[in-house]
Amino acid sequence: MAGLAVGSRTTQLVRRAERLFPGGVNSPVRAFRSVGRPPLLLERGRGPHVWDSDGLRYVDYIGAWGAAILGHADPTVIAAIEATTPNGLALGATHPLEIELGEAIQAAMPSIERIRFTSSGTEAVMSALRVARGATGRDLVLKFAGAYHGHADGMLVEPGSGAATLAIVGSAGVPDAVAATTIVVPFNDSGAVSRAFFEHPGRIAAVIVEPVVANAGVIAPLPGFLEHLRTTTRAEGALLIFDEVITGFRLGPGGAQARFGVRPDLTTLGKVIGGGMPIGAYGGRADLMNLVAPAGPVYQAGTLSGHPLAMAAGVATLVALTPERYEVLERTTAELADGLAAAAAAAGAEIAIARVGPLLTAFFRPSVPVDAAEALASDRTAYARFFGSMLDGGILLPPSPFEAWFPSMAHGSAEIEATIAAARIAFAEAAA
Ligand code: PMP
Repeated sequence: MAGLAVGSRTTQLVRRAERLFPGGVNSPVRAFRSVGRPPLLLERGRGPHVWDSDGLRYVDYIGAWGAAILGHADPTVIAAIEATTPNGLALGATHPLEIELGEAIQAAMPSIERIRFTSSGTEAVMSALRVARGATGRDLVLKFAGAYHGHADGMLVEPGSGAATLAIVGSAGVPDAVAATTIVVPFNDSGAVSRAFFEHPGRIAAVIVEPVVANAGVIAPLPGFLEHLRTTTRAEGALLIFDEVITGFRLGPGGAQARFGVRPDLTTLGKVIGGGMPIGAYGGRADLMNLVAPAGPVYQAGTLSGHPLAMAAGVATLVALTPERYEVLERTTAELADGLAAAAAAAGAEIAIARVGPLLTAFFRPSVPVDAAEALASDRTAYARFFGSMLDGGILLPPSPFEAWFPSMAHGSAEIEATIAAARIAFAEAAA
């Protein structure tokens, strides 16, 4: 197995990690369990590439799970961080860079009239839900099966991402009373949403949705679905929360809400807005956000919220995200999708490529899924074989069939061609 000969540095580090961390990792998908490979340790990244702890180089599609939209170690982001560090790290009061990043986000996403920074997407979601409950005086939240909204208790009911990969439908340790406040319906099922409101009249505080699902693999919203969520929540006195932790500043500067023309009441962000530093944010209607302490009665806080390094990296990232670069990223991803589809067809592999803008998943099933149940019915064994051959060919895919691939703006024709060339072999092996 490439780079994992007995006694290799990676093997030794994996052994040490396994004695320290549950499953050897600090976040479940990093364990590579569903692809049947020992985990990689990644030590260096530059542009479209990452290097493992044995010095092997890969074209990277994990992309820091979506954060690395510019590619790794982007010089302007690194320079912004380096310019900030001599002045100290967390200082414990508002830093001017918080205002800069907040204004840049507000300018790109008009629904965000007020914003609050957190240190992770999980916190952003927890806090947005608290605002929704505080604003409406209702307890229930409707989410979609296979969507991932971080690891807050109430969101770990039929979650996507690592939990879906590990076939976890609910987490131990979540009190039944908390799980009971989450209603789960299939994505893209407008009828099920309406029925949930009918069955729980006056009790649903919010619908939270990944407007493009990226955590059960990529699933596009059917025409009219997001609009249905908007009209239904409005009619029922509930709030609409777009979880744009992945789609924000990836589907374009205005995120999914600009792409699909649907304005949510609240939005959660993370990943890209921190340029690879720990970050989250939630924001939306001023009347709702003014419920947050100290302006209002909904409490939420964070020692490291608005950390200067995260703010500096975020500002530099958003400045670099020009419309031209989004166009190139979209073209790059389309080229990749077309090449993968052709490679799969040539190999006789049954593959459906789901793509929304610069988000892509190759599903090992005959058609692109419309909901998580269809996505989860993919051929996991074939994906594991495909993943392994791609890795041996120097291409690092997400170590799960149910994650989005994240090409970056640093990926060029050379990387796309290398990926498609590796896929020709890998599809043939996966189909064998
Ligand atoms: N929401 C979505 C849509 C996500 O994809 C994620 C993380 N992948 C989160 C929330 C949670 O973010 P974090 O891991 O930063 O807590």
